[in-house]
Amino acid sequence: MDEQSSQLDKLVLFLDTELCLLEFSEDESANGLQVEGRTTVRKVGLAVDACEYVFRKAAEREIDFLFVHHGLIWGGLKTVRGVMRKRIKALFDSGISLYACHLPLDWHPKYGNNSQLLKLLSIRKMGEFGKYHGKNISYWGRTAKELSLDEFTVRIDKALKTKSSAVSFGKKVRNVGVVSGGGWFAINEAEKYGIDTFLTGEPSHSAYTLAEEMRVNLVFAGHYATETPGVKAVGDMLKKKFDIAVEFIDHPTGL
Ligand SMILES: [Zn+2]
Repeated sequence: MDEQSSQLDKLVLFLDTELCLLEFSEDESANGLQVEGRTTVRKVGLAVDACEYVFRKAAEREIDFLFVHHGLIWGGLKTVRGVMRKRIKALFDSGISLYACHLPLDWHPKYGNNSQLLKLLSIRKMGEFGKYHGKNISYWGRTAKELSLDEFTVRIDKALKTKSSAVSFGKKVRNVGVVSGGGWFAINEAEKYGIDTFLTGEPSHSAYTLAEEMRVNLVFAGHYATETPGVKAVGDMLKKKFDIAVEFIDHPTGL
């Protein structure tokens, strides 16, 4: 980067590198800067979802650069009409840049949703877990002592301010596999890692009989609730690194 590079250029380059975007070229999400706004960045906003509500709040709060987990562009941009037109227009009108980071933010060993979930739940990270498009995007870990499933869900609800639902298949909680969001597919790997409890965001009917036959407890803590820790961790890091104002825009779906 030369001296001509703007605050926006610097921030984008830093995030692309720090969050290892190149590791996930298979991701359907167009990770990185999706919509280019003004070149000056005084305030950074962070949110889970790119949507009208978040864009409106970001404009009200005079945010220049918005970092989200679920961006606007998935699998290539085809048309700009309807909801998409309104969303992009809102960004153009306010001059806000939109930056998305999907799978790299689930996986990231430091700032990622899954690493942050383990940390928040006091689970010691043991190894990688949750293969998706040929790459592990998560981790499994171990609690300091055996817990009942009730004790574990109370801990989750408190840490994530959520209301999780659990299905018990009789085991105590010790070895926990975690995949934020819609990660039910990873239940298939539970036996391989000796996992007794599997935690993901969205409930899945398909996971039930697999879990039943493997005798693995299921906990669904909400897609949104399990994907706020990553964006918040990125916000904390940017605040320290760039000494910049950051603000988390909460828009819970309860799902
Ligand atoms: Zn998600």
